[in-house]
Amino acid sequence: MSREKTEAAAAFFAAELLNWYDANKRDLPWRRDRDPYRIWVSEVMLQQTRVDTVIPYYERFMERFPTVRHLAEAPEEEVLKCWEGLGYYSRARNLQAGARQVVELYGGVVPDDKAAISSLKGIGPYTAGAILSIAYNKPEPAVDGNVMRVMSRYFLLEDDIAKPSARTKIERLAASIIPEGRAGDFNQAVMELGALVCTPKSPGCLLCPVLAQCAGRAAGRERELPAKSKAKPPRPELRLAALVEGRGEHAGKVLVRRRPDSGLLARMWELPHVLAPDEAARSRGRAAGAAAFAADARVLASATILADAKAAGVPEAPAVADADDSAASAGAVAAGTSMAGTAGDGRFDALSRGLAEEAGLLVRPVRLWSEEEHVFSHIRWKVDVYLAEFGFFLAGGREAAAGAAGGMAAEPGASYGGPSDADDLPEGWLWIGPEDMASLAFPNVFLRILNDYFARQA
Ligand code: SF4
Repeated sequence: MSREKTEAAAAFFAAELLNWYDANKRDLPWRRDRDPYRIWVSEVMLQQTRVDTVIPYYERFMERFPTVRHLAEAPEEEVLKCWEGLGYYSRARNLQAGARQVVELYGGVVPDDKAAISSLKGIGPYTAGAILSIAYNKPEPAVDGNVMRVMSRYFLLEDDIAKPSARTKIERLAASIIPEGRAGDFNQAVMELGALVCTPKSPGCLLCPVLAQCAGRAAGRERELPAKSKAKPPRPELRLAALVEGRGEHAGKVLVRRRPDSGLLARMWELPHVLAPDEAARSRGRAAGAAAFAADARVLASATILADAKAAGVPEAPAVADADDSAASAGAVAAGTSMAGTAGDGRFDALSRGLAEEAGLLVRPVRLWSEEEHVFSHIRWKVDVYLAEFGFFLAGGREAAAGAAGGMAAEPGASYGGPSDADDLPEGWLWIGPEDMASLAFPNVFLRILNDYFARQA
């Protein structure tokens, strides 16, 4: 396209789009004022998440944290709880970290300066552009996936939008056509067109306000564009989780733990789980009857842990599964699930052994409860959940377990110092009942499992 043609097409695009937006924009809760904090929260929630899903979360969040100061001062647990179900929890943590920066550095006022706002935790070029243009009407582009799609089609841009260079090019183009005094409306208008008309799979060209000058449509390429190289599919992982049921004074409760302070799903609560060893992962879905993994002398068998712990004077702990016990109990696989998860395929043992080694937790898996899935951007978890009986925690927790894993066969029980009291859980572990679901934040997959479990117990 010649430069003159591009300029004419750009002017047409901006003018027609604004007219269309004025008449057709949706009444969304974050559009009711220009408070930069409210816009910030909405933009962060809308990343990777549909508008319909976001609305109730946004309303609850704004009710609970109506100002940047409220958010900055809230306990993180409450923020995560309010975010629970939206996924991508690092967004919530970064949002709160950014709010704390705004309070500490800018007296609680979201800055209207590009360098200052871009230095806040979790604010990238898109969010900075959205806040600056919508709240402060600054002529900054806000280029997200919708905008890249619309502009690639309208201007017939063939650049691979997965590459940063394409984003930079589109940002420059968008910045050059923002109409004076209407930066916020223009940016929202392009996003709105992408959400409502120029949709990914079936663009509604016949209803489009910029159809007359759309180069992509004129070339019959609207469904091919934007060009986007395929991202690597998420890496599959089989996780084995224990739904450890309490007894005695903990009857009706389930054992949960808090995740580490950093990394994936940091500080959220979950059922204890381990990565399945390759041989157990490969066997998922196969019928029972594979050779007994538990008998493999090369690994630290949990039965051995128990025997050694008993030798060290541990009273009253229920036995960790041995192959025969597990095979017998595996007959009672949860309704609607497959035969996966019998002792013979090694997963009972892999779970009890893994928890003992990683967390110093001894449990006895009893039967498969459910099979779940949880997809992150880079990992796809398949989660096999096993009902399990609580044994005990090794005193000294993980360190003792690691030591035990290395040398217990030679020195039975010497590395333990005996079990912990069942009431004296290590830090970061809790027995919870249904009433605790209102205060602890769980990733979706564990939220589903626990809600289902407590509902069935009621
Ligand atoms: S005419 Fe079609 S392809 Fe072009 S911007 Fe409109 S909806 Fe998208």
